[in-house]
Amino acid sequence: MSDTKTAPAPGDRTVIGITFGNSNSSIAYTVDDKAEVIANEDGDRQIPTILSYVDGEEYYGQQAKAFLVRNSKNTVAYFRDFLGKDFKSIDPTHNHASVHPEDVDGSVSFTLKDKEGEDAAPSTLPVSEISTRYLRRLVNSASEYLGKKVTSAVVTIPTNFNDKQKAALIAAAAAANLEVLQLISEPIAAVLAYDARPEAEIKDKIVVVADLGGTRSDVTVVASRGGLYTILATAHDYDFAGAALDKVLIDHFAKDFAKRNQGIDPRENARSLAKLKFEAEATKRALSLSTNANFSIESLAEGLDFSSTINRLRYETIARSVFEGFNRLVESVIKKAGLDVLDVDEVILSGGTAHTPRIAANFGAIFPESTTILAPATTPTAINPSELQARGAALQASLIQEYEAEDIDQSTHAAVTTVPHITNAIGVLSVSQSGEEVFVPIVFPETAVPARRTVVVAAPKNGGDVLVKVVEGNTHIKVTQPQPKANGGDSKAAKVEDANSDEDSDFSDEEEEDEEEKREKVWKVGATLAEAAIRDVKKGGKVEVSINVNADLTVTVTAREVGAKGGVRGQLNA
Ligand code: ATP
Ligand code: MG
Repeated sequence: MSDTKTAPAPGDRTVIGITFGNSNSSIAYTVDDKAEVIANEDGDRQIPTILSYVDGEEYYGQQAKAFLVRNSKNTVAYFRDFLGKDFKSIDPTHNHASVHPEDVDGSVSFTLKDKEGEDAAPSTLPVSEISTRYLRRLVNSASEYLGKKVTSAVVTIPTNFNDKQKAALIAAAAAANLEVLQLISEPIAAVLAYDARPEAEIKDKIVVVADLGGTRSDVTVVASRGGLYTILATAHDYDFAGAALDKVLIDHFAKDFAKRNQGIDPRENARSLAKLKFEAEATKRALSLSTNANFSIESLAEGLDFSSTINRLRYETIARSVFEGFNRLVESVIKKAGLDVLDVDEVILSGGTAHTPRIAANFGAIFPESTTILAPATTPTAINPSELQARGAALQASLIQEYEAEDIDQSTHAAVTTVPHITNAIGVLSVSQSGEEVFVPIVFPETAVPARRTVVVAAPKNGGDVLVKVVEGNTHIKVTQPQPKANGGDSKAAKVEDANSDEDSDFSDEEEEDEEEKREKVWKVGATLAEAAIRDVKKGGKVEVSINVNADLTVTVTAREVGAKGGVRGQLNA
């Protein structure tokens, strides 16, 4: 980069990880290989992505959010997704209660009063400038916390950010005097945060990252193979996210208020609506922790106060259709990846909305027991879903901070973007106890290439010749229909369920469980790639098989007796 101001020498860098969301942002740093999310001056680790100006003074984060009620005309929120976009392609839905985006020569701007004085002229600021000002505040908070000037960061972005959006983000950061070391995708950052834990077992696995935010949900299927991450499929949704849950509560309590107050609908007044939104979000968060929450607003509309409560079950009932939307999103992306729920080893819940216990429980019901659901509600050791992306970004930043700027892309790109991968598994045929040939996978489907895996196959107890057959394999799902029940005991269970099915308590999926068909993943053997005979293996000897899948997808197989010289080696095209 020619702009020396934003490209410090590797040794002079102070690096952090940043997530810059439409709703919230976070900053994190790494110390002793451990990532920590930094609290800003207000003590917040989830910092609302909002700027507000009062009499020339700039507020950001939670303080700016509080101004959405009293100072909405000088408060700008939900702008991250507009960076690098044409005005005609943006969705301004979420900006109704703050400064509205405007079309200035086809790009997005906001007009607000950011200068002191009653009669100061308003400024029209492009979204890039708003972003720069906001990023500057984040960097300042991090610098203050660390006691030294932050120079550089790894910043997370959604998987569907295009080149123009990426360039706009890098430019906005540069204008805030921040070097972007690398942009990494949000789901990969979440996976990195989990894989960096000391107790993490780095093994080949399929991970679904469900990033449930405020204005969007992004679900990604990631194959983790030999430490490389490959994105297999993504889905993005702008209807099923935290804001939709806020709306459920807003509508619920607005109707209650109207019922108590001669039909006055507080949603019709902008300021009352802003108050409803603020309280709905607080109530929603409270319901993630406890089974009851208050909802109280002073002077909600026409000077009338409002106070009510809601329990979690009621909330889960009125929000059911939104929760079902999350389920469908996850199911659709797995299908898009050509996989089945049985293929998924881990589901990482990321983003603020992922704190919701019902969502984690619902995902638990979609996936088999063998799938780990990493969410606070289901796994006590889960990492805070709101911190995953910033932590992953901070870890990546500390990993690459010593690199020259121009080397970073080349050396780290492959780890976080789509690289060539095999579609079928490669493995060996082994003869089971019962004499059946069974497929033992060695290189799993969706492994990024080049890849190398080695396994040891058993030789006959008393030694002799061992035939190694390397084959392709693929999974299919075997479905076993349930056994019909012998007695009529079922009808009673059905009746009980019926009696319970008023709207507050009909989440009784469990009863159906033992009637469900059984689905399991089984290997199907495909083409034979290589056969090798290892002669005269010693008594108690072992045969080692190495499979190398080269970058051009050719496969090299080596089979040899452990500890013996020689071996058989062959190359073939898969
Ligand atoms: P987006 O870009 O989708 O707007 P984001 O990535 O900037 O969102 P996140 O912090 O991941 O923001 O998600 C914000 C959403 O999470 C908000 O709707 C917020 O109300 C919700 N949220 C935060 N904490 C909780 C909680 N404890 N329980 C339920 N929802 C929560
Ligand atoms: Mg997000």
